[in-house]
Amino acid sequence: MDPSTAKTIEGAMDPATVTMIRDLAYLFASVLFIRGLKGLTHPRTAVRGNLLGVCGMLVAVVTTLWAGGIVTWGWIASGLIVGSLIGVFLAVRVPMTGMPQMVAIFNGFGGAASFLVAGGELFIRLANSRAADAVAEAGAHEAMSSQFTIATALSGLIGAVTLTGSFVAFIKLAEYKITIGGKKIWLSGSLQLPARHLISIVAVLATIGLCVAVVADPTTSLWYWLLVASAAVLGILITIPIGGADMPVVIALLNSYSGLAACATGFVIGNTVLIIAGSLVGASGLILTAIMCKAMNRSLASVIFATMGPTADGPSADDVYAGKIKTTSADEIAMMLDGAQRVVIVPGYGMAVSQAQHAVRDLANLLESRGATVEFGIHPVAGRMPGHMNVLLAEADIDYDKLLEMDAINPTLDTVDVALVIGANDVVNPVARTDPSSAIAGMPIIDIDKCRTVVVIKRSLSPGFAGIPNPLFAQDNTLMFFSDGKKAFVEITAAVKDS
Ligand code: NDP
Repeated sequence: MDPSTAKTIEGAMDPATVTMIRDLAYLFASVLFIRGLKGLTHPRTAVRGNLLGVCGMLVAVVTTLWAGGIVTWGWIASGLIVGSLIGVFLAVRVPMTGMPQMVAIFNGFGGAASFLVAGGELFIRLANSRAADAVAEAGAHEAMSSQFTIATALSGLIGAVTLTGSFVAFIKLAEYKITIGGKKIWLSGSLQLPARHLISIVAVLATIGLCVAVVADPTTSLWYWLLVASAAVLGILITIPIGGADMPVVIALLNSYSGLAACATGFVIGNTVLIIAGSLVGASGLILTAIMCKAMNRSLASVIFATMGPTADGPSADDVYAGKIKTTSADEIAMMLDGAQRVVIVPGYGMAVSQAQHAVRDLANLLESRGATVEFGIHPVAGRMPGHMNVLLAEADIDYDKLLEMDAINPTLDTVDVALVIGANDVVNPVARTDPSSAIAGMPIIDIDKCRTVVVIKRSLSPGFAGIPNPLFAQDNTLMFFSDGKKAFVEITAAVKDS
């Protein structure tokens, strides 16, 4: 990171000029990050905000590589091309529904990059100290400031927790299922290890002890890598018991951790733009975590210590559904919609899977052109990432004013003639209100069961992310339309046009 080395590549440029250009570029990049974050606060400005953030990161990375003087412009250009190709490949190949898993992996890699860079810097400093015969082991210790050692320990700790925690989150978000002894286990749920608390306490104590060892004796790099290993175990232990309604909070928290790890690494290598970018990610992730906790009616402690998980096996799907499910068809729904004054559409993960947002918009526009009022009930954790439904509906050009948050729409749901639930399950599951032992107990839901008629569009009676049956489907005023979400809306729109 020494700007003086840039002279070797640039030849004519003196170190003071390199430093000045670098600092101005970092300042410019930081302003772009802040403007980008501001843009991300509203769907209308989100795309521009994203672009500003991308430009800021490009300026920061290119400046760091140039001012470091280690790589030539040819290498920088090659890196940009290879990185862009990987980015384009992922953007094209990963489906919209795979984005949350991809974000989880990005967070994990961010954590890994942070602890590896910090470990690399520690290695270089130790090697340099040892190479200089004049500096003894004790001298090398003194050469490392407490800022450096504390930042290194924090980078190893937070980075490793982020890496393994994010990979566990990835597995949960991918909703893998395994069968053990004939019993199907949903990996998205809460996994309770025997003696979990004891193992966690041991891992926490070991990690704290190793943090102290890294700070007290940075000349022994083994402490650092033991710390990384111990924190990696801690990341797994923290994340595996979390399931059900708490995963969105964990995703936001891991996102924040990846920023904090980067920030700590910024202190390790003395890179101001990394400190700023890491702080912005860390702070915005923490704000998102607080918003998620509030939306889910959870305290952060109850999420982290997984005290809100299921406390008992709930009723089976057979208990809840047997003999109580009524099905319907597109023609029948069209007839109901014909006389409806107020229609509410509640989208969930299934809308993302079926990419039904454009078909949903077409039906909403048709109903409005016939005099009905159409609104959308948006749950903060519907889908698999914060703001998932807002993004999809904005993509279909649905007016943002028609999207009503849960708190805004719940008080008036009893005046809704027809509610169309498309691929939403957990976020409309009334057991959150009624069963304190359920995996989603206490999570605020959209009270769609209070509408006059509820039509649920999904392919089967399969559970949602939390893996529990939904008594809404068996309610007297509920009709099930078993179909792919997009296909169903296309058929309903055609039937309304024909009616
Ligand atoms: P759910 O996961 O509860 O339910 C989704 C439903 O969509 C399933 O029951 C499925 O039923 C249906 N579905 C799937 N594919 C299709 C399709 N092609 N057409 C129609 N329906 C389909 O989703 P919700 O949005 O209600 O709830 C989100 C859940 O995810 C919550 O538990 C939340 O805690 C969790 N979560 C949210 C995150 C976030 O940040 N938003 C992050 C992590 C977890 P079927 O297979 O029968 O069609």
